[in-house]
Amino acid sequence: MSKTIAISNQKGGVGKTTTSVNLGACLATLGKKVLLVDIDPQGNTTSGIGVNKADVKYCIYDVLIDDVHPNDATVATAIEGLSIIPATIQLAGAEIELVSTISREMKLKNALKKVKSQYDYILIDCPPSLGILTVNSLTASDSLIIPIQCEYYALEGLSQLLNTVRLVQKHLNTSLQIEGVLLTMLDARTNLGIQVIEEVKKYFQQKVYQTIIPRNVRLSEAPSHGQAIITYDPRSKGAEVYLELAKEVIMYEQAAR
Ligand code: ADP
Ligand code: MG
Repeated sequence: MSKTIAISNQKGGVGKTTTSVNLGACLATLGKKVLLVDIDPQGNTTSGIGVNKADVKYCIYDVLIDDVHPNDATVATAIEGLSIIPATIQLAGAEIELVSTISREMKLKNALKKVKSQYDYILIDCPPSLGILTVNSLTASDSLIIPIQCEYYALEGLSQLLNTVRLVQKHLNTSLQIEGVLLTMLDARTNLGIQVIEEVKKYFQQKVYQTIIPRNVRLSEAPSHGQAIITYDPRSKGAEVYLELAKEVIMYEQAAR
């Protein structure tokens, strides 16, 4: 069994990349074979896991536009069981180039089909938009994880995301599901966080992960060292919670079977 999960929310700065890198690293630490797919032109997952963009031979752009085999674009990371298809700034042109491509929404799905059986989990780090790259990601995925920052206006913009999900379900990927909603960057010292948690739980109910990601300085430091939290500071709160999240993700999958 292999599962492809998009980490998606068109809002920037909600923890998509942090979750992709650290959930991926923790799943791999728990013995799973994991492929990260960086489909954000900013390439933060790529650099955050320690891949030097200057050394990248093929990136996700080449897979989408030039039909390079995903295996040829995949590079290993320092964590056993975790590899990545990187993104470079080249990807910024893909939105426009895909417009004139046949079955442009299916490009990623068709590519990942070739390698899906090699992995237990494929995690796709989406860009902060609902454009063609996000639509490709949702079309290629079994499910999506929606990170929501515990801040004012947490639910703002979510109706657009859910609308896009419904459109994809209707026209491109009937089996797409919401894997879970992840509350991120909780500041436990404020009441605001608690209010947001209640609001989000009222809306998404049992889809909300029990694991809530608190603000943790170590989590924000790790990317500049090109490391996931589990190797950067395995004893930090950040490492603890992302490991918990990974266990929760695995548990739900076992329960579903
Ligand atoms: P997105 O990919 O949705 O734009 P990021 O994962 O890049 O969001 O997070 C935005 C910023 O917040 C980054 O600088 C990241 O290091 C920081 N950050 C993310 N999660 C946490 C956290 N739990 N605690 C502290 N800083 C965090
Ligand atoms: Mg990001």
